[in-house]
Amino acid sequence: MHKSRPKFLIPESLPPGDIKIAFSTRLGGVSEPPFDSLNLGFKSGDKSEAVLENRRVLAKSLDLDLRVLTFAHQVHADNVTLIDKSLVGAGNGLSPLVLPETDGLITGLEDVGLVVLSADCLPIILIDPLKKICAAVHAGWRGTLKRIAAKTVADMIRQGAVASRIKAFLGPAIGECCMEVASDLFEQFSTAFDLGPVTEKPHLNLPGINETILIGAGLLPQNIENMKLCTSCRPDLFFSWRRDGQTGRQGAIVIRSK
Ligand SMILES: [Zn+2]
Repeated sequence: MHKSRPKFLIPESLPPGDIKIAFSTRLGGVSEPPFDSLNLGFKSGDKSEAVLENRRVLAKSLDLDLRVLTFAHQVHADNVTLIDKSLVGAGNGLSPLVLPETDGLITGLEDVGLVVLSADCLPIILIDPLKKICAAVHAGWRGTLKRIAAKTVADMIRQGAVASRIKAFLGPAIGECCMEVASDLFEQFSTAFDLGPVTEKPHLNLPGINETILIGAGLLPQNIENMKLCTSCRPDLFFSWRRDGQTGRQGAIVIRSK
């Protein structure tokens, strides 16, 4: 059993204040290979008890209560859900609540943690530090093609956020180095995002494309932190579905504390 504490990555440009952000790594949990060790995803094939224990470890390490952590019901689509009091805790493994299919979560509530899980797909955390509106987004290639990040920004604005004030944190995801795609898929992206002609072995830069999407949605380039950590290149730190097939899931968490 792994006894060490989880290792988190905290964005460098997070402004001081009451909003906390953490990107979990694979380190510090209890799951056995190939889910070793801090696997947060129930749908990975891992034992449910291990995943629940990992989620408890995660919450405790961040001084949070697992009951306030709310997990997206991810399906690689572009639905965004506003988390109000009636939905707090959905999908956390303790609550009977399950969200409708959703890859983006938004809340303006205090003491409600939003979580998205990934193992190559891009996790994005968005915050308006003044209006205290937080969002967590799961953007794989399908969600990116559907511009889920821009859709989430639009929903945040509907809640009172201001685009030029929103800060974005792009967490660990498969990098351009490792994301070779079929020519027809690259063509779809090239048409949507003006990426130029298809090369012999086309690679997609999901974090880069999402930066473009966020700037298109009104965010200022200097308010976007792209961590540029490739999940596939770093087996020591991250789960990667493309690299390993059956594997665990890391999490991106945002919470505004009381
Ligand atoms: Zn890579």
